[in-house]
Amino acid sequence: MKKIGVLTSGGDAPGMNAAIRAVVRAGINQGLEVLGIKKGYVGLLEGLYDEMTARSVSDILHRGGTILQSARCKEFKTQEGVQKAVETAKEIGLDGLVVIGGDGSFRGARDLSLAGLPTVGIPGTIDNDIGCSDYTIGFDTALNTVQEAIDKIRDTCRSHDRCSVVEVMGRDAGYIAAYVGLSCGAEAVIVPEKHFDFKKDVLQSIAEGVKRGKEQHLIIVAEGVTKDNISAIDMAKRIEEETGVETRATILGHIQRGGNPSVKDRVVASKMGYFAVELIKEGIGNRIVATKGDDIVDYDILEGLNMSKKLDAELLKISEILSM
Ligand code: ADP
Repeated sequence: MKKIGVLTSGGDAPGMNAAIRAVVRAGINQGLEVLGIKKGYVGLLEGLYDEMTARSVSDILHRGGTILQSARCKEFKTQEGVQKAVETAKEIGLDGLVVIGGDGSFRGARDLSLAGLPTVGIPGTIDNDIGCSDYTIGFDTALNTVQEAIDKIRDTCRSHDRCSVVEVMGRDAGYIAAYVGLSCGAEAVIVPEKHFDFKKDVLQSIAEGVKRGKEQHLIIVAEGVTKDNISAIDMAKRIEEETGVETRATILGHIQRGGNPSVKDRVVASKMGYFAVELIKEGIGNRIVATKGDDIVDYDILEGLNMSKKLDAELLKISEILSM
């Protein structure tokens, strides 16, 4: 193993830069040449890359986004696309690759490994939705961003005796919603993992809260719920119509994907990047680096993609009880 590449793919997440830095510097420390492939799999198909030095990753540890940029690449999903990517990798002399991204990117990493380019995946997504890893890079920073935004919404909510419906990201998972639901004192947390009854869980809860003297109300809804059911805006309208409490909807959107990574994200990203190089330097590919508690572990990609984890139901239960 002489030359490896690193790329970021799919949705970006704070801490991806810390992972890139770790792969580049751990690689150099092992005597490897490291190429920074730009724009995810697009760059691999088109041969867009920079030769990385220890200095190319200076001053990025604390920055959100990804210096290598990320992209979604349809062409790569085809067999011809994967073949072309492996050929380009050969032309530029790559012996191995580290892919930082989510489950879609890992499917691509598996295809590359099977086609002859050993590839290791590192979970980077704010959604925390990778079944084989307790934690994914970016989740903690996103939680802090959402919490800060909701604290501000709460200030103005309080001033006007209002109800706020806040939609948070998470794709098809409710991790962000469930954690900030508890940390921000939401009255109802609506997530895709749990059936909800709008009348009972939201309208009734607000009406009972009003009777108990509550002057402000916070409902957190995960994007995975709104896309198939009722939108946050329609939810707010119904709450106002049926409870008489003035209600506003806020869709936090992409603010959740940016910002300087938290301590946790920098530490996990650095450890995972280092660990990925330990695998790839031995020519070991087709693996996902993951966390199990505080440990860094690795799984076969297909095995990892087939694993699932459960949203901690206690988070929702405790949040409901404490929001009295
Ligand atoms: P994420 O990695 O965050 O889940 P995407 O699902 O958008 O993001 O995947 C990022 C890229 O990974 C896609 O644009 C595509 O190039 C590649 N990819 C996604 N799904 C597959 C798949 N099933 N097989 C091969 N490559 C895939």
